[in-house]
Amino acid sequence: MIQSDSLLFSYPRGPEFNFPAFALEKGESLLVLGASGSGKSTWLQLLSGLREPQQGEVKIGNNALFSMSQNLRDRFRARHIGFVFQDHSFIPSLNAWENIQLPFSQGLAFPKERAQELSEQLGLAALLKKRPQQLSQGERQRLSVLRAVLPQPDLILADEPSSSLDDTNCEKLIHLLKTQCSLAGSSLIVVTHDQRIKDQFERRIER
Ligand code: ADP
Ligand code: MG
Repeated sequence: MIQSDSLLFSYPRGPEFNFPAFALEKGESLLVLGASGSGKSTWLQLLSGLREPQQGEVKIGNNALFSMSQNLRDRFRARHIGFVFQDHSFIPSLNAWENIQLPFSQGLAFPKERAQELSEQLGLAALLKKRPQQLSQGERQRLSVLRAVLPQPDLILADEPSSSLDDTNCEKLIHLLKTQCSLAGSSLIVVTHDQRIKDQFERRIER
């Protein structure tokens, strides 16, 4: 579960943001809707401890992110948080199948059957030998979701996960993301400007 105070953050010589407090139980999901520039990506960086707020604390389970050393926070993030990034961040020299195994480098067993099953549900099964740059933007977006859900982390943070998808794939992808998080007990936060996915979430914050 994740619990955040209201967070105050300002960029040096840049905009200042006040993000509201919230709490999510295991397996619950939250949608944050807002226009471009409203601070959505900044908020996710704070919730994962990639940036430090001027005021406020974030707790994941019993772990207060900003009471940890930076080193501990980085290790905590790698073990407990999964990301679906706007710009993906795959390793270009590895194929899709190898890329989704990266989060398992720390002694965790790669769930091969589940990976194959979910690849099929996402329409990626025939594309797993391709390198990321040989995939379309929408295919990379689906691969990014697959990579985030496989390790069943405590928290998944998704930044605009549906922006490059057609309506059918968009609905399917968000459904899979929510279902997998709920089954694994992962808390899920999706930030987006994509109004199409609004009705798929009961809990929403509009900025
Ligand atoms: P969103 O994801 O909602 O589009 P962002 O969180 O990316 O919004 O950015 C919010 C605002 O903060 C934007 O106006 C952006 O220009 C500004 N901003 C983002 N990153 C930086 C930075 N590193 N330094 C200064 N300003 C930034
Ligand atoms: Mg953004």
